[in-house]
Amino acid sequence: MGVMTGANTAGADKEAGAKALGEELADKGFLLTTTDDIINWARTGSLHWMTFGLACCAVEMIHGAMPRYDFERFGTAPRASPRQSDLMIVAGTVTNKMAPAIRKLYDQMPEPRYVISMGSCANGGGYYHYSYSVVRGVDRLIPVDVYVPGCPPTAEALLYGVLQLQRKIRRTGTIVR
Ligand code: SF4
Repeated sequence: MGVMTGANTAGADKEAGAKALGEELADKGFLLTTTDDIINWARTGSLHWMTFGLACCAVEMIHGAMPRYDFERFGTAPRASPRQSDLMIVAGTVTNKMAPAIRKLYDQMPEPRYVISMGSCANGGGYYHYSYSVVRGVDRLIPVDVYVPGCPPTAEALLYGVLQLQRKIRRTGTIVR
């Protein structure tokens, strides 16, 4: 419920912002803004995510890209290559064997890059915390910006995580991270 409220609030904010811009443009015939604002607007509106489905959580992540949740409404489209990705969504259990590949792919992403850790396994090992073969949290390999809790988190929860990341980027507001 809270998740959908967050999405609705973001939609209402966007509408109010678009209306204010339209009025300013009609009144003065031009718009003034700061470079930071325009860069952050572009960044938050084009968070292309690299699919990193490692286990069951990936199914909910995939739901997010489908028409019911439609992440693309927020400019968040899946990409197959790390070179074209701004965001890595780590969805599932990170094994020791997979760890070097995650780090390598993260290193191949251009700056600024962001990471969402999705689900208990990626957050801290989860159900397999004491397993000999599982990394106890992807943040041992790469820096994480947003943690989405749950086993698995729903697609709505992941969407809420993406909205939180957009807020974080707006708040941070720096060109160099
Ligand atoms: S958090 Fe739960 S649903 Fe997600 S990968 Fe781990 S066991 Fe599967």
